[in-house]
Amino acid sequence: MEKTLENLKKNGFTVTCCPTAKDAADYLAGSLHGKTIGMGGSLTLAALDVYDRLRADNTVYWHQAAPGPDTIREACNAQVYLASANAVSEEGYILNIDGRGNRVAGTLMAKERVIFVVGRNKLAGPMSEALDRARNTAAPANAKRLDKKTPCAVDGTCHDCVSPDRICNALVVLWKKPSGCDAMEVVVVDQELGY
Ligand code: SF4
Repeated sequence: MEKTLENLKKNGFTVTCCPTAKDAADYLAGSLHGKTIGMGGSLTLAALDVYDRLRADNTVYWHQAAPGPDTIREACNAQVYLASANAVSEEGYILNIDGRGNRVAGTLMAKERVIFVVGRNKLAGPMSEALDRARNTAAPANAKRLDKKTPCAVDGTCHDCVSPDRICNALVVLWKKPSGCDAMEVVVVDQELGY
């Protein structure tokens, strides 16, 4: 873990370590005030149970709480964006695969702050292993959770399918902090969270 955290810092990401999901939620609620905040679809963020806490002091857009295209659009345009990651590689790269593209778009451009919350289970080995994790662990588990009619939802392995339900249409690898975002942060939680 130490090597990954060091490389994240070298790549321009701020790193914050939290022992538990509650500590991470406390940290987010304590450091975000008066902002517009978008949240990407994420079991990790759901586990933090932070949506209502953030809403007390910010304007928050999260389609998991308020479904709809307007919510998704506003989330992408918010000052701050919260998401998890499918994997973080040992080199300090942050990987996300997306079906609609809103989650990866929200992490890329014109943000005051982008915050990735990742459980320790998301810390992978080298890039090849991180990509394998994203494709063969995270994506099939998400396809199954979302009841997608894809082969991976049946056997837990990516078949690079051509299903209309395919959830893997964009892969974004953040090698370093993009210059279009003022700050990017990885909150590492010492617990297993999400897929
Ligand atoms: S089988 Fe299709 S939906 Fe499933 S992980 Fe592979 S590309 Fe994604």
